Amino acid sequence: MMPVWFSLTLKFAAIAMVALFVGAWKGVVAGWAMACIGLLVLHAAHVYQLTRLERWLKAPNADDVPDAWGTWGLVFAGIYRALRQETKTRDAVGKELELFMEAAQALPGGIAMLDSGDQLLWCNDTAAVHLGLQVGRDYGLRITNIVRVPGLAAFLQRALADNTLDYRPADNTGQLLSLKAIPFGDGRKLLVSFDITQIERADTMRRDFIANVSHELRTPLTVIHGFLEHMNDAPVAPAEQARRHIELMTQQSDRMLKLVDDLLMLSRLEAGDSPNREERVDLHALLQGLAQDARALSAGRHQIEVDVLGEAAVTGSVDELRSAFGNLVSNAVRYTPQDGRVTLAWRVDEQGRGVFSVADTGIGIAAEHIPRLTERFYRVDRGRSRDTGGTGLGLAIVKHVLLRHQATLEIQSELGAGSEFRIVFPAWRSVVDAPAHNATDTPNHDTADVTKHAEADAA
Ligand code: ADP
Repeated sequence: MMPVWFSLTLKFAAIAMVALFVGAWKGVVAGWAMACIGLLVLHAAHVYQLTRLERWLKAPNADDVPDAWGTWGLVFAGIYRALRQETKTRDAVGKELELFMEAAQALPGGIAMLDSGDQLLWCNDTAAVHLGLQVGRDYGLRITNIVRVPGLAAFLQRALADNTLDYRPADNTGQLLSLKAIPFGDGRKLLVSFDITQIERADTMRRDFIANVSHELRTPLTVIHGFLEHMNDAPVAPAEQARRHIELMTQQSDRMLKLVDDLLMLSRLEAGDSPNREERVDLHALLQGLAQDARALSAGRHQIEVDVLGEAAVTGSVDELRSAFGNLVSNAVRYTPQDGRVTLAWRVDEQGRGVFSVADTGIGIAAEHIPRLTERFYRVDRGRSRDTGGTGLGLAIVKHVLLRHQATLEIQSELGAGSEFRIVFPAWRSVVDAPAHNATDTPNHDTADVTKHAEADAA
């Protein structure tokens, strides 16, 4: 392409040549007149094109660059190329900026950018919620004037990457947030906020758990220790007294063993999401075994019934289900006064879900306690739980076993009237093609069994 200077020089040369030619032909005056006309025409053309350029520059648009020919065509084409290039670069930078903004929005925490005077430059939506900011409206305002976090000004003054400021938002229920101020660039800061409510809760739970375990173990250990000291001081105690002490120490060590067993079971259950071994669990056999254990625990003080209707099998871990069902059954016996009734039942509901239930006519539970029963060491009546050999971990174990079997626990209870604990399994865990049961051991509907045991227990 021809350079502008060359094109212009060519035009001047052409005018000079024509003027020289006219001058030679018609005289000097005609030659000068021709040169003036040529220069005027050239000037008018440039003025015209400059006016178009000036008009276009007021609202420059790459798609609307004026059309021209000759020298001006070259100028306009250059402008057009530069503009397109700039638009392309701007689009690319804009896209990258958008990507960064999206990434900053997607972060689980809040981010607010402050300038060297702690004025808000930008923040993501999470930071807006955490700090009570209005995106856009609050930009340019000093953060300490718009955010009500005690100690924020001092915290920002000594902004160090490893410093944190924890606070509870005034309008929030129990949420705990943590701020970090990270210096960057020319005196600027990144204010990062995290929701640490769950971490704090887990921390509290861990502390409570350690305190509870220590307390639970301390009581029996104190008893054993006391007897051992006594034996040490008076090694030859009367036989009857020694027997009584050994009996009490055995009781206390049994209690510790049960607690440690339950703790180990809980930690095993928490270690994985699903049972290691899934198998077909025959509920007729399982429920009969549990009823037997319940009778041993009851020692004839209760009426224990088993009611199993139709096919009764699920897939799952037999050990875990025995432990979960067993905890419900032993609770029913332990929290039911003498002559009460405990019924173990299995049925399949209309939606094909298997339901195991344990109903008792015991002391019942007040409604406000029910949502907390599956917490570790939560007891309604601490004394009764301990006296009957409870560890306070039974229903926590049930909860974890059920989680691993995608089952749910339903509790219905009336104070003084009794309780019913139901475990509801998803329909896909029901085994529909269970083989026929041995008629004598596990009849399809254990009504005969119910009557038989009711009589036995009553006797
Ligand atoms: P514990 O070892 O104390 O029985 P659990 O976790 O098994 O611990 O049960 C938690 C609490 O729930 C018990 O302390 C008791 O107060 C209450 N509870 C559980 N089952 C029953 C029930 N069938 N009847 C009345 N209260 C019950």
